[in-house]
Amino acid sequence: MHRPALSVVIPCYNEEGCLEALHERVSAAAHAAVGDDHEIVLVNDGSRDGSWSVMQQLSAADPRLVAINLSRNHGHQLALTAGLDLCAGEQILIIDADLQDPPELLTDMRAAMREQQADVVYAVRRKREGETVFKKLTAAAFYRVLDRVTDTPIPLDTGDFRLMTRRALDAFLSLPEQARFIRGMVAWVGFRQVPFAYDRHERLTGESKYPLGKMVRFALDAVTGFSTAPLRFASHVGLALTGATVLLFLYVMGSFVLGHTVQGWTSTMLVVLFLGSVQMFVLGMIGEYLGRLYVESKRRPLYLVADVAGPVQGRASLGY
Ligand code: UDP
Ligand code: MG
Repeated sequence: MHRPALSVVIPCYNEEGCLEALHERVSAAAHAAVGDDHEIVLVNDGSRDGSWSVMQQLSAADPRLVAINLSRNHGHQLALTAGLDLCAGEQILIIDADLQDPPELLTDMRAAMREQQADVVYAVRRKREGETVFKKLTAAAFYRVLDRVTDTPIPLDTGDFRLMTRRALDAFLSLPEQARFIRGMVAWVGFRQVPFAYDRHERLTGESKYPLGKMVRFALDAVTGFSTAPLRFASHVGLALTGATVLLFLYVMGSFVLGHTVQGWTSTMLVVLFLGSVQMFVLGMIGEYLGRLYVESKRRPLYLVADVAGPVQGRASLGY
C-alpha cells in the first residue's frame, strides 16, 4: 500500500454548493504543502442534494481525490470516522466541507507540527464569524462545562479541524466506541498535542448542518463518553436532600412541641413536586448512560459504505 505524505479528510452532508470551491482550495493548499503526494478523501454522509454526483465528477477529474458514499446519513462524527479509517496518509488533516476553517493554514500547521515535534496540532477558535449569538454562547458554555466534568483534559473552543500524524491516528482508530466525540477521543490518546490559534470564518454557502437536536445529542455523547460525574450527581443530591429533610423534621417537631402544627397544602405540594423532578432528572441521566451501553453492546459497524469513486489506498474493510 502506498502511503501519501498527506491525507485531507472531509465529511460532507448536503454540501453541493461548497464542493467545487472546497476541492480547489484544499487541492491548492495540499500541493503547496507536499506537492503531488497527497490524497483528498471526501465522505458523502447520505446527502439529500447532488453532493454525491458532484463528488463523482470531481474524482473523475482528479486522481488524488477519493469519494466515499455512505449507505445513509450516519452523522458527522461517524462520517469523519469512515474517512479516517479509509485514508492512508502519513499526516492527516481533518477539515469541514463548508470552508469555515481555511485550508491555507495547512502549511503553518505542518510547520508547528515539525517545530514542536507534535503528533497533533489542533486548531483553537479565536473568533467565530457568521454564527448566531446562540451558537456562540452555547458552544462557549459547552466547552467550559465539559472541561469541569471530564477527567480527560479536552482543549477549549477546539473543533475537529486538526493535523495528526499516522501514529496518533492509528491510536485513535483503535478506540471502538459507537458514541463518538472525536475531539475528545483524540485528546484521550495523548502523545504531544499542541494548539494552533485561528479565526473561524463564515460558512461558504448553505446552513449549519447542526440543528439544536443534533447539538444536544453531540453534547450528551461528549459528557457521557468522558465523564461519570452525572452519575455521582445523584448521590450528592441525595445527601443534600437528606440534610434538608432532617432540618425540616426538626422544624416540624419543634413547632409541634410549642403547641401548633405546621399546615399547608402549598409546602406539601412543593416538596412532592421538587422530589419528583429530581428523581425524574436523575433517572433520565442514568437512562442516557444505559441507552449508550445498550447501543455499544450491539456491536454494530460504525458506518456502511455504499460506493467508492477513485483509488482507495487505506484499509479495505469498508466498515463491515
Ligand atoms: N456533517 C456531516 N453529517 C451530518 C452533519 C454534518 O457529515 O450529519 C458535516 C458537514 O457537511 C460539515 C461538518 O460536518 O462538513 C460540520 O458541520 P456544520 O458545518 O454544519 O457544523 P457547524 O460548523 O455549524 O458546527
Ligand atoms: Mg460549519
